[in-house]
Amino acid sequence: MELDLGPQIARFRADLRDWIAAEAPDGLAALADWNMAVTAGGYRREELAAAMEQPAYAAWERKLAAARLICPQWPEEFGGQGMDAVRIAVLNEDFHRAGVPRVRRGMGEALVGPSVIVHGTAEQRAYFLPRIISGEEVYCQGFSEPGHGSDLAAVETRGIVDGDEIVVSGQKVWTSGASRATMMFLLCRTDPDAEKHAGLSYVLIPFTGPGVEYRPIRQMSGASEFCEDFLDGVRAPLFNTSASSESSGHWPRPLASTAAAPIAWSASGWPGPTPAFSSCASAGCARWPGWPEAARRGRRRRSRS
Ligand SMILES: Cc1cc2nc3c(=O)[nH]c(=O)nc-3n(C[C@H](O)[C@H](O)[C@H](O)COP(=O)(O)OP(=O)(O)OC[C@H]3O[C@@H](n4cnc5c(N)ncnc54)[C@H](O)[C@@H]3O)c2cc1C
Repeated sequence: MELDLGPQIARFRADLRDWIAAEAPDGLAALADWNMAVTAGGYRREELAAAMEQPAYAAWERKLAAARLICPQWPEEFGGQGMDAVRIAVLNEDFHRAGVPRVRRGMGEALVGPSVIVHGTAEQRAYFLPRIISGEEVYCQGFSEPGHGSDLAAVETRGIVDGDEIVVSGQKVWTSGASRATMMFLLCRTDPDAEKHAGLSYVLIPFTGPGVEYRPIRQMSGASEFCEDFLDGVRAPLFNTSASSESSGHWPRPLASTAAAPIAWSASGWPGPTPAFSSCASAGCARWPGWPEAARRGRRRRSRS
């Protein structure tokens, strides 16, 4: 069944179909079953990795990037198209129909980029966002810790400022995609004297350098989609922390929400001097008109996974 979504969407769909037919490299659809779940329980990793090594995939990725069809929901000024949810649904449907891959940037696309867009400085946006779109930096999420998952206010991983760097030590767990990541976005405690919902900072650390060790966690299925991570004095520039003098005057101001999703999908601007785990839902939508309210409501309800 094809719903009638009106003439504008019909035109968008027709243009998209023409574009796919003209631009999809020969043999791309046959490289893999791109319509199956990305990991399907962790068993498809090698098959997909092999397909993504092929020239047809690389050519497709270049064409999508040139057409701003990677992170297309991001606002235009940050490399996307500001595509709304209906067009994204059509995009997904028509890529599915053609059997060609949607090139996604995972947590960088869904969580880190939106946080940087909403809360980052102009310099942070200019630095981090293009690297997510290009795939140069691939993120995993370091929120859960061995002693606590949902209760992020109990985060124990420490972040200590040393000159113009932050030095992070601690342990994270249930980290999806850690083995593919080059960066981790995490929460760490930077002010141990603050009340437990404050004193936390959101930091982007390099995940391939010194002080980082991760071990796969074997699931009942036999696959290993998660890792536990050991961070021992991992250094990142202070530039990689989310801090704002607008927030409360404290440095560094914790910005991440309990599940990151409200920030990620929020159309809000700076949430103001709200509690550390502010749900940005309270703020307006002016900065990010591409996100419909329903999408934000849906994300707010979702638990992190
Ligand atoms: C598929 C999947 C992928 C994941 N990927 C990642 C990842 O990439 N990065 C990452 O950081 N984490 C990840 N996680 C971890 C996940 O998002 C949660 O943080 C974690 O599973 C919850 O922690 P826990 O297991 O210690 O459970 P707990 O936090 O101990 O929760 C156990 C139960 O107690 C309830 N509970 C907890 N605290 C309270 C409270 N204060 N009041 C009332 N009830 C409470 C919870 O709702 C739950 O029912 C992933 C989890 C899954 C299932």
